[in-house]
Amino acid sequence: METSISVLVCGAGPTGLVTALELARRGIDVRIVDAEQKPSQLSKAAVLWRRSLEVLHPSVPVERFTAHGRPVHGIQFEANGSVLQEIDFGGLAGRFPHGLFIPQNKTEAVLNEALESLGVQVEWGTEVKDVSSCEEHVDVHFSDGEQSRFSWLVGADGAHSTVRKCLGIEFPGAAIDQRWLLADLKLEEAGQEDRIRMFLSTAGLLGLFPYGNGVWRVIADAGPIDPETPRVDPTCEDILHILHSRSGLDWTVEKARWLSEFRINERQVDHYCHGRVILAGDAAHIHSPAGGQGMNTSIQDAVNLSWKLAMVIKNQAASALLTTYQDERHPVGAAVVEGSGRMLRVMMSRNPLIRFFRRWVLPYIVGLPPMRKEAVNRLSEVDVEYCGGPLAPTGADRWIGRRCPDVVWGDDGSSVYDLFTGTGCTVVRLGRGSIPDALWERVIRAAGPDVILVDAAMPDGSVAEEAKAFAQALAAAYGTIVVVRPDSYLGPVSQDIEVVESWFSQLHNFE
Ligand SMILES: Cc1cc2nc3c(=O)[nH]c(=O)nc-3n(C[C@H](O)[C@H](O)[C@H](O)COP(=O)(O)OP(=O)(O)OC[C@H]3O[C@@H](n4cnc5c(N)ncnc54)[C@H](O)[C@@H]3O)c2cc1C
Repeated sequence: METSISVLVCGAGPTGLVTALELARRGIDVRIVDAEQKPSQLSKAAVLWRRSLEVLHPSVPVERFTAHGRPVHGIQFEANGSVLQEIDFGGLAGRFPHGLFIPQNKTEAVLNEALESLGVQVEWGTEVKDVSSCEEHVDVHFSDGEQSRFSWLVGADGAHSTVRKCLGIEFPGAAIDQRWLLADLKLEEAGQEDRIRMFLSTAGLLGLFPYGNGVWRVIADAGPIDPETPRVDPTCEDILHILHSRSGLDWTVEKARWLSEFRINERQVDHYCHGRVILAGDAAHIHSPAGGQGMNTSIQDAVNLSWKLAMVIKNQAASALLTTYQDERHPVGAAVVEGSGRMLRVMMSRNPLIRFFRRWVLPYIVGLPPMRKEAVNRLSEVDVEYCGGPLAPTGADRWIGRRCPDVVWGDDGSSVYDLFTGTGCTVVRLGRGSIPDALWERVIRAAGPDVILVDAAMPDGSVAEEAKAFAQALAAAYGTIVVVRPDSYLGPVSQDIEVVESWFSQLHNFE
């Protein structure tokens, strides 16, 4: 059998769409298939957090998402009909909101549109049935009888991944013994549509997330699972009862759009890379929806993986570079499984001490400025960094491996993120003319193809609060080379050309 296409992406959820988009943008021939006959209309993930918007910005400018969503401005804790604490996430001077309330089907539609604009169509109604792989290729059997050979297979086929099962990969973890109810409702006068509403009640958890125009996502726990009782979707009356009893407020439902019961598993595969088969997104990790991190972590997996896989396919890097996908993203997935699980257990607990803490202490602690900042950074995933990892050795450079801060770059308020228009790294010569051309030429040679070169003056000082330390450090180091990876994490930030050359050499010849 001939290998005609480099990569097959199995699954056209957010992970698969981003993977296919990022590969196609880099000129890789890619096929993407999905077992379903058409795109899902389910609103599943309610929030697209800031880090996802940032890493997607080069391929899907943030405005394409903001056109369909509403910025998240805060969270409000309430009990017995009164507001306990309003936590404002704070203004941001940069380009990106903390997060966007946007239903997952809209997010997927925006991603699909970007993919189609590159000439790649999702093949709906095409199910992967069997997979076998060896050192050189992957053989795939499809539901319509087709058998094809690919150089690489990305398993982005969700929690019940066929790809994972075909390779016999364990999915260790456990199911949480609790029923959860979900409803998308059009509610009359349900409050400001820019914040999450969390109701702390002894009867259980209740959270409301606004989609705009009066439509809210309602999530509530519904007690332990009874093994004798089959899964049953709630009725509108069930949800209305929960809304009344847990909030102490009156509600009027104008329309119910989606009513569902769901269960939570916490699982993660030990290894994301299995030779020429690579797992990403829910196929690799699943966890509680607390914090709304599932889709966001999955999108960031896809971005991290794709630029590296493209470099390997284009012979710009050795295949060992893919081990850095595991090294960087597996710990992030593990932290999300653990953190969202901890959050869920605190919110679900019937233990009187924890209930006391949840009702009387938690809202006030989260409201303290340092805690608030940490909580917002954690939720929006801007605190994810790869310092000390294989592409960011610890040493003199305090920036390497960190997320590139969102420095306001031009007089028009544009962001440093607007410079990252390419498909490879972006290399910035800061302090125009301060590095001799001969040395700059060496950097260009070391960087190789697909790199965007920016010869820039210093940032003008009008920087977002969170980026101040970065801008100040750069300003103090006139004549600095700043390398930004394709996923907008920092490579070396150095005045030493040899440091920059050696980092690129390691990237291209990773062992
Ligand atoms: C009720 C609910 C609420 C959620 N809320 C949030 C939230 O607020 N924030 C958040 O970040 N996340 C949330 N999530 C999680 C989020 O929906 C997932 O993390 C996200 O969809 C994962 O994307 P994925 O592309 O990896 O997998 P999926 O979205 O599951 O996509 C997998 C795709 O693969 C296809 N497929 C499966 N098997 C095959 C096969 N054999 N051949 C071909 N195609 C196949 C499927 O049809 C599907 O389209 C929520 C999930 C649920 C269920």
